[in-house]
Amino acid sequence: MTDQIRTDVLIVGSGLAGLYTALHIDKRLSVLFTTKESVDSSSSWLAQGGIAAAIAKDDTPEYHVEDTLLAGAGFCDEAAVRVLAAEGPEDVRRLAEMRVPFDLDAEGELAITREGGHTRNRIVHAGGDATGRETVRALMMLAANRASISFLGGCFITGLLTGENGSVNGALALRGGRKTVISARFVVLATGGLGQIYSNTTNPLAATGDGFALAAKAGAVLRDMEFVQFHPTGLYSAEPSERAFLISEAVRGEGAVLRNKVGERFMTGVHPMADLAPRDIVSRAIVRELKDAPFVSLDATEIPAERLLQRFPTIAAECAARGIDIARDWIPVRPVQHYQVGGVSVNLHAQTTLPGLYAVGEVSCTGVHGANRLASNSMLECLVFGRRAAETMNSEQYPSTNEQLPNTEEQQTTDNRDAGVTAGVYQAKIRRICDEYAGVIRTVSGLTRGLAEIERVLADLPEPHTREWAETRNMALSARAVLSAARARRESAGTHYIEKL
Ligand SMILES: Cc1cc2nc3c(=O)[nH]c(=O)nc-3n(C[C@H](O)[C@H](O)[C@H](O)COP(=O)(O)OP(=O)(O)OC[C@H]3O[C@@H](n4cnc5c(N)ncnc54)[C@H](O)[C@@H]3O)c2cc1C
Repeated sequence: MTDQIRTDVLIVGSGLAGLYTALHIDKRLSVLFTTKESVDSSSSWLAQGGIAAAIAKDDTPEYHVEDTLLAGAGFCDEAAVRVLAAEGPEDVRRLAEMRVPFDLDAEGELAITREGGHTRNRIVHAGGDATGRETVRALMMLAANRASISFLGGCFITGLLTGENGSVNGALALRGGRKTVISARFVVLATGGLGQIYSNTTNPLAATGDGFALAAKAGAVLRDMEFVQFHPTGLYSAEPSERAFLISEAVRGEGAVLRNKVGERFMTGVHPMADLAPRDIVSRAIVRELKDAPFVSLDATEIPAERLLQRFPTIAAECAARGIDIARDWIPVRPVQHYQVGGVSVNLHAQTTLPGLYAVGEVSCTGVHGANRLASNSMLECLVFGRRAAETMNSEQYPSTNEQLPNTEEQQTTDNRDAGVTAGVYQAKIRRICDEYAGVIRTVSGLTRGLAEIERVLADLPEPHTREWAETRNMALSARAVLSAARARRESAGTHYIEKL
């Protein structure tokens, strides 16, 4: 027995991109937004540093454009960057109106700080270093009170439904083991990243690359998948963990510096912006220091203790739980996978190459990040292009009420076998391949080997019968997309760094 649901707009993912899109859809359209777990299982919930927007008196969207283009290493889509920088300040003001409790300065204005690659202070934040959690909470409250919006937690989307002309008209889901067909006029992928294809990532367990795989299987174009951003300062832990804790770049923005194993600052000779150089440059400099040490140190001890603890309460608490007093001790850090720069190719209205299918947030590739994302531009991208997606759907013809449910006979994923025991083995293989061949520093020969190995994993994988197997296949498909794009690009660019040709 299959459940059937009909909605005007299906949004897959309840992070910032999904929520902000949902809240901008015309109230006359029914919106169903779904997540495979709960609202706190998203990168958005974990975001610390903040959202970039040119709102300071000494700043302009033009400066923001310049910094973004520079970080993107010549690969940004300039039209998309201009949209992001020009419309961003208004979306941040909207968030404040939507009761996101942004931190304020002594004059009662939005407090703004700086992060790597930004030449001006332009990062707004909330709860000190809990920007994502505070933002998602505020938007969830609004969505919960909107009659046109329904929310389904624990709803895992397994496939997209396509019509005769390739247009997307719904999705298949598993809910508590039950199959569900969701018919929709528009489907919006807001599924976040793919960090779980690496063993060290800041991303939540939910980041198994589902959206990239769903889109690719339906025939949508992916682009720039080789560009994977590694955050320079994941908290080092000798024990393996499912998710690395992030030490936000904003800590360096406030004055912390990196030191190598003999206590020397090593970023000063590497880049004019030293410790606040773009992330790819800092990550590579750290990897070089790691040749004979498992971590480098982040020294925040020059920042007044009171300011440090007030500004970074979450980081201070997590470090304290591991016996590190950030006001007195150096923090052990190393690069960790953090953000997928490439994704499902979209235009300036978040439309993919398939009619009816939109992509917003981290799963999408608008071109604003080029080969390397500028810090705190991703939450802004969720806002600007999420709203644009909604405005485009609002302006399209409204659906007819007697639409047929799509035919799903061939596309249904069943959930009648418990094959979960060995999916973890395949996941470990995928992570080993990505760590080894698609990390901070790559080689062409390594990428060739990695691609061959991931093809073997894909050939061995059984048909997905459960959520865990479906996620494993999605991880393998996402890993293949990263490896094959990286293999195809022979020159270094931004986050894609080839050591030996
Ligand atoms: C620790 C951390 C700190 C960060 N700090 C910042 C910051 O300070 N500033 C900044 O700009 N960016 C930051 N980022 C990046 C930023 O948070 C993300 O890029 C952004 O929040 C992504 O939002 P999203 O809505 O696209 O995806 P997410 O917030 O990851 O949400 C994805 C959603 O999709 C759901 N989903 C996935 N697959 C399926 C499926 N098959 N079926 C149903 N649901 C599915 C997930 O459960 C989740 O609800 C940070 C990221 C991390 C991990």
